[in-house]
Amino acid sequence: MSSSLVTVSYIGATILFILSLGGLSNPETAKRGNWYGIIGMAIAVLATVFGWRVVGAGEIPIVYGASGLVIIILAMVIGGAVGLYAAKTVQMTQMPELVAIMHSLVGFAACAIGFASYIDTSTVFATHAEHVIHLVEIYVGILIGAVTFTGSVVAFGKLSGRIDGKPLLLPARHWINLAGLIVVIIFGKFFLGAETIAGGMFPLIVMTIISLAFGVHMVMAIGGADMPVVISMLNSYSGWAAAATGFMLSNDLLIVVGALVGSSGAILSYIMCRAMNRNFISVIAGGFGTTSTSSSSAAAAPAGDVKSISAAETAEMLSEGKSVIIVPGYGMAVAQAQHAVFEMTKILREKGVNVRFGIHPVAGRMPGHMNVLLAEAKVPYDIVCEMDELNDDFPATDVAMVIGANDIVNPAAQDDPGSPIAGMPVLEVWKAKHSIVMKRSMASGYAGIDNPLFYKDNNLMLFGDAKKMLDEVVATLKAK
Ligand code: NDP
Repeated sequence: MSSSLVTVSYIGATILFILSLGGLSNPETAKRGNWYGIIGMAIAVLATVFGWRVVGAGEIPIVYGASGLVIIILAMVIGGAVGLYAAKTVQMTQMPELVAIMHSLVGFAACAIGFASYIDTSTVFATHAEHVIHLVEIYVGILIGAVTFTGSVVAFGKLSGRIDGKPLLLPARHWINLAGLIVVIIFGKFFLGAETIAGGMFPLIVMTIISLAFGVHMVMAIGGADMPVVISMLNSYSGWAAAATGFMLSNDLLIVVGALVGSSGAILSYIMCRAMNRNFISVIAGGFGTTSTSSSSAAAAPAGDVKSISAAETAEMLSEGKSVIIVPGYGMAVAQAQHAVFEMTKILREKGVNVRFGIHPVAGRMPGHMNVLLAEAKVPYDIVCEMDELNDDFPATDVAMVIGANDIVNPAAQDDPGSPIAGMPVLEVWKAKHSIVMKRSMASGYAGIDNPLFYKDNNLMLFGDAKKMLDEVVATLKAK
């Protein structure tokens, strides 16, 4: 494949990636968006593996020699098999962890390519300035890659419960970070000034170690309640790491794709911060979720009496209501209850009940988690509303039904300034005539705090696994 055909393929792939991102912004076009992405990536891989690039006056294959092709194809088969296995076996609830660990691979690849580019002496630079720019690309690429790598591994640990969600706050942590930054800048100067590869290797390794440590420190310092922002932020970092790799390899497509991922991840982080009423800088600075004041010190200890309700009584209340708002959360994903939710919704709508869904931006464990599940269960998009669209409607609602959600319906976010989630907008289910919370126990949610909603006069608890309880509700509704 000639170099001009490669350029045309790269432009085509870039357009498909942009269309893919556009498609993914709406559930109705998301499937098409995925296909654009798949086709774009297939074109990109084929053009890179079988394409040629211009060197001097001639052209050489991008992947050099038969042995290079064999290695690439072998790597693709092994990587593809691992990816296929992961995609087939991973549970929907483990998706966020999978995404986090995938980001770590992008970071690792950026580091590995950075070191390989540095020791590769085959590239001849026309001017000294070009050589310096290449060295800067390597240094910055490894820096971003290393932070992304360890940061994502720690995020994976926190999301999967292998690492405690509480923020780790070292004394003088900001000073430690600042000292690390200064050392990285000074060693960057040594790296650029090194006469030989061996001479530049030491500052490069020191910077890599500091960046790896910074990635761990940065995410360890972030409290459980801020994890949604961290996930999207690491997504953004992985994009910039890929873009840096594109610069190192002089691959325009990788630069563009990396920039697309990096900037869309940054926009998502901003949206998540707004959804949680948090300032981006204070999230990165860490420490959120460690409050020392009253409510959280009471932690998950139940603080009152609750009234429980049976599945049959729930069915009765729902079918008698005119307006019902369902608020799904992480527990719905754990129980895989979305199909039962759809079944219940269908019956209630047939009975003339106005059923809508209220989706909190950080419900579940990844952005869009609830939308994906409800779309999979074929819940009509027009009754799935964002939090802002229906938060004012709760006073006119007969029943607000909370299915496996906790933090996102916690009134302490509004009432208790000392709460770790103070200031986070929440779905005001307690303002409905009745709220029903479906969960297995009095256990707390991700933020590890008690929920005063459970003790409100108009609240009822339906204890049990969401799928089992909903099946019972559906059975009663069908029998009526
Ligand atoms: P929460 O984690 O606050 O609460 C989920 C509740 O579901 C638990 O209290 C649990 O109670 C219940 N549950 C678990 N399994 C089942 C089951 N099988 N059947 C019924 N109930 C079940 O989830 P929310 O969605 O309310 O809030 C999301 C939280 O996750 C927020 O704190 C957010 O910041 C955080 N987060 C969000 C991310 C995102 O991008 N969306 C990423 C990372 C974190 P019990 O054990 O008693 O059943």
